[in-house]
Amino acid sequence: MTRRPSPDAPATGRCRCGRIVFEVAKPPLITMACHCTGCQRMTASAFSLSAAIPAEGFRVMEGEPAIGGLHGELEHFCCSRCMSWLFTRIPAAQSMINVRSPMLEGADWKEPFVETWTSEKLPWATTPARHSFPGFPPQEAWPRMIAEFQAEFAGGASAKS
Ligand SMILES: [Zn+2]
Ligand SMILES: [Zn+2]
Repeated sequence: MTRRPSPDAPATGRCRCGRIVFEVAKPPLITMACHCTGCQRMTASAFSLSAAIPAEGFRVMEGEPAIGGLHGELEHFCCSRCMSWLFTRIPAAQSMINVRSPMLEGADWKEPFVETWTSEKLPWATTPARHSFPGFPPQEAWPRMIAEFQAEFAGGASAKS
């Protein structure tokens, strides 16, 4: 079993109908699953899957993503035709884009390293995540987890440069 998220950036992602195509040119800082009830509704599933991509390594190649979700502080970008939820911009963390990893081709970068909001999870929902948090992880937890992910999954190569 290969544990590397992918040695093969760039990767291409797309919505279900194919109107929106994006490119990920840098490997993720970390991968996540979120069990919150908001993600359950937006994915119509047990949890969302994300790969946090350095913002400079993310590019929409085709189509015009539209804001979906709550239209609040977090910007949830979707395809306006098929309504697939594609990626999220977090104003407080402008340096990265949370890409919904199932939109990417292939199986790479989809296994969650961290899971959040387990306090809201469906009783049967489990993931292989290494770190679990009942809510959103505290700010100080991220640098250590990102370093651990990079060391283990990215072959020690810096994804931040
Ligand atoms: Zn679409
Ligand atoms: Zn969530």
